[in-house]
Amino acid sequence: MSELSRNIDKLTGHLKRFRDTGIQNQIGGHMVPAHSGAVFDNASPVDESHICTVARGGAADIDAAAKAARDAFPAWRDMGGAERRKILHRIADGIEARAEEIAFCECWDTGQALRFMSKAALRGAANFRFFADRAPAARDGQMLPSPTLMNVTTRLPIGPVGVITPWNTPFMLSTWKIAPALAAGCTIVHKPAEFSPLTARLLVEIAEQAGLPPGVWNLVNGLGEEAGKALSEHPDIKAIAFVGESRTGSMIMKQGADTLKRVHFELGGKNPVVVFDDADLDRALDAVIFMIYSLNGERCTSASRLLIQSNIAEDFLGKLQARVDNIRVGHPLDPETEVGPLIHKTHFDKVVSYFDKARADGASIAAGGTRVGDKGYFVRPTLFTQATNDMAIAQEEIFGPVLTAITFDTEADALRMANDTPYGLAGYVWTNDLARALRFTNELEAGMIWVNSENVRHLPTPFGGVKASGIGRDGGDWSFDFYMEQKHIGFATGQHSIPRLGA
Ligand code: NAD
Repeated sequence: MSELSRNIDKLTGHLKRFRDTGIQNQIGGHMVPAHSGAVFDNASPVDESHICTVARGGAADIDAAAKAARDAFPAWRDMGGAERRKILHRIADGIEARAEEIAFCECWDTGQALRFMSKAALRGAANFRFFADRAPAARDGQMLPSPTLMNVTTRLPIGPVGVITPWNTPFMLSTWKIAPALAAGCTIVHKPAEFSPLTARLLVEIAEQAGLPPGVWNLVNGLGEEAGKALSEHPDIKAIAFVGESRTGSMIMKQGADTLKRVHFELGGKNPVVVFDDADLDRALDAVIFMIYSLNGERCTSASRLLIQSNIAEDFLGKLQARVDNIRVGHPLDPETEVGPLIHKTHFDKVVSYFDKARADGASIAAGGTRVGDKGYFVRPTLFTQATNDMAIAQEEIFGPVLTAITFDTEADALRMANDTPYGLAGYVWTNDLARALRFTNELEAGMIWVNSENVRHLPTPFGGVKASGIGRDGGDWSFDFYMEQKHIGFATGQHSIPRLGA
């Protein structure tokens, strides 16, 4: 029996409970159907087969969840940080114990390859442990004495918050948002993406089994324009942490305006990787390939625009094309697979539409540009060459295993093109010239830049983008800044003179 067949057998076991009962919401510690009784279908992108039905939550479900989060808030806020720390570590233990189930469900639900998803649970657990350890000190503030006052600051959790997540690596991204919110003392309502509901259900179960009090974490499934909209409009929800497309972020900002929502947005990107002729070109090649073809290219920090110096372009692009042609596309549960199917037909149609756009605009398709098979949403890893930075393939976020290569002559050209996009999430620079690296990173418009490296996440560092790529930062203390309010208190230290009006 091959490893793939063994994995498919195991998957069938993990999916049985979803097939039998569908996915329900979790409100106030109870598993409940949608108030209207409505459901939607969830299918796998691997073979388009039905996985399960999912509760289609709407405004009534969001209202019930927001009230549960509001009722649970005072006790969770007032629990000592050390106690919250223990519970969050127990959630991490629960995630690790169910790592295989999480990985297999995520592969089947999203099409992500097991070689990447096998670590998803460990990374999710690490997110919980990182913020668990910071829970006891989350409220700490400063003492800022003035001549007449002892000024102190402290932080308090903002209240119940909404967390709205996308379908790309949904498990990992949910833990990123939810762990700091809970560590800060907030209660939450989570609305996961409709295309990938499985692991959100596992997460909330793991949390409650770990002793998280009912109502602290509520889950409402549903469509963005129904459940997501209602969540961002709800008066009891004090803030929305959102990861998704830039235009959805803009809608959420409008929807949340009447209730003055605080928002944290992690949005799209069209991230450049700039390769200069003095770089270590072998390492640069590995990183360029990894940063666009891993995770099916469905990754906000993917380096989807390669800016390559003209004098090395022919050789570099030749090697790149050979490697891209060699990437293994296949079943996500096959350990050999490097690229799996795209999430959904809608997204598949969008990605495929860029093959024609590229040709029409005058670019060449040096690798890929075709569908694979006739079941499921597989495409060949694709490389566009002969492109210019004004083409749609260089300006728009395609969000698939699709790379646009553009040549440049001078550092100034490279910088101009790198910045000439509405987005500003991440940038990657390959050079061995230190002064150039310093100059270039200083001018590059991006929230995160890696020099001579692929994206390597370090949890204490700030994660987020500029321009149309986002508002706010995740990671380290930045997460607590979002989920908490600052409070200042001034204590008079003596009898300073108070202006006496009307005396
Ligand atoms: P999306 O914006 O379509 O959906 C994200 C979530 O928003 C889903 O849960 C959806 O149901 C919900 N939603 C949709 N309309 C809504 C509305 N009107 N009100 C409230 N919620 C609504 O994004 P997607 O297609 O699921 O995810 C891919 C996008 O996410 C890409 O643009 C990618 O770059 C971005 N992303 C960004 C980061 C980052 O850190 N910057 C990380 C991952 C993904």
